[in-house]
Amino acid sequence: MADELRRYLAQQVELGGAEIILGRRPAPRNPVADIPAAEGAPSDPVRAAGAADSEPKWKKGAPPIPGPGLVVMSPTPVLLGNDLGVLESIEAVAERISTTYCCDLCPKRTHAVPGEGNPHAKLVLVGEGPGATEDATGRPFVGQAGQLLDSILEAIDVPRSSVYITNIVKCRPPQNRKPLPDEIAACIPYLHRQLDLIRPKVILAMGGTAGESLLGVRKSLGDLRGKVHTYNGIPLVVTYHPAALLRNPNWKKPTWDDVRIARQLLDR
Ligand code: URA
Repeated sequence: MADELRRYLAQQVELGGAEIILGRRPAPRNPVADIPAAEGAPSDPVRAAGAADSEPKWKKGAPPIPGPGLVVMSPTPVLLGNDLGVLESIEAVAERISTTYCCDLCPKRTHAVPGEGNPHAKLVLVGEGPGATEDATGRPFVGQAGQLLDSILEAIDVPRSSVYITNIVKCRPPQNRKPLPDEIAACIPYLHRQLDLIRPKVILAMGGTAGESLLGVRKSLGDLRGKVHTYNGIPLVVTYHPAALLRNPNWKKPTWDDVRIARQLLDR
């Protein structure tokens, strides 16, 4: 039990939480280590232990849930010349994605990347499109951006195995370029069907492509962040893409805020 608590607290320190030194620990190497320390974080382990019992660390200094943004409905699933509505499970959608072509990206893929995770997830994460590692493995977010995403999920006490992770387009765009509008239009019906089937409590759209495509608007990420949009009755939060954080660490703090907003919505 004591060991468990030490591990928990040590992990929070790595994630930029309280300034607690517990025994001999290696220097923090976690990619989200420079996420700002939670406001009012206690500096002695005894108080920290008490606080950890009552309130999760991620919640300290988390912004309040912001006001409403856009409200959108997903289109009816009569799409791709086939009615995706007949696909009654996440596995059936994945099978369809992996065995058919919907746009010019498909013939060039090594693997389609339909998505993975809990088909009854309360949280669905949506990225832009597979990269090289994802194309090679058929799994979403397993490259560098995926490692950062794993750390972020860990920091909000959400196991990766509990969520569903997918993308706007399911096949890798060449050189990781942004998917083109017609590629998005051809592929997004799969995502709408996945979301219909999962009906999560919260959707986190990571990056402008995910936010704009799900909400059906052309707006900057700055405009889309900081609001709770509604997609088919489901709260949807937009934040930066993990790959963008690797390029620009200044976006870690706003991302940490967005993610904690999404986390609070899960508890609501
Ligand atoms: N970037 C994405 O948008 N999706 C992935 O699956 C990996 C990297």
